[in-house]
Amino acid sequence: MHIMLDLETWGTRAGCAIRSIGACVFDAKGVGNTFYRNVTDASCEAAGLKQEPGTVKFWSEQGDTARAAFDADQVSLGHALLEFNDWWAAERGKFIWGMGANFDPPIIEAAYEAVMLDAPWKFWDVRCCRTVLASADRRPERVKGDTKHHALDDAIAQAKAVSAAFRTGNFRLA
Ligand SMILES: [Mg+2]
Repeated sequence: MHIMLDLETWGTRAGCAIRSIGACVFDAKGVGNTFYRNVTDASCEAAGLKQEPGTVKFWSEQGDTARAAFDADQVSLGHALLEFNDWWAAERGKFIWGMGANFDPPIIEAAYEAVMLDAPWKFWDVRCCRTVLASADRRPERVKGDTKHHALDDAIAQAKAVSAAFRTGNFRLA
């Protein structure tokens, strides 16, 4: 299955700390089951993952709704990744999509490594949401009431747009 992943993070590069993990199953028909976990800062720090000053500043400028979403039901990074692996297996995940291929996948792969776990996908099964949306001249499909920079709301909005792109199939090199 195709899995759209969205991370909210404390940085923009592999090795940065992770705040939340959102994901959903999708195909050309639409969006399916979802996954969401908030991650504790302490567990990221213990694993050696860093907070980048630019991203710390970014979060200080975001709205209360986006920031409050991180407070509920936090689990350790290792726990969140083990649960994500279970979910991935249950959903028969194969392809991992990020916005783009150079953001969420390498950041979560570095997080797996930091807690001595393996990501459940092959590196050649990484897919790029940004490339597809640019080629189809589409943007993430947000719905009223969702929260920008919420990992699950973002994953769903991106998956909907990629799904629609493959339904309508109007691509050009952009
Ligand atoms: Mg996001």
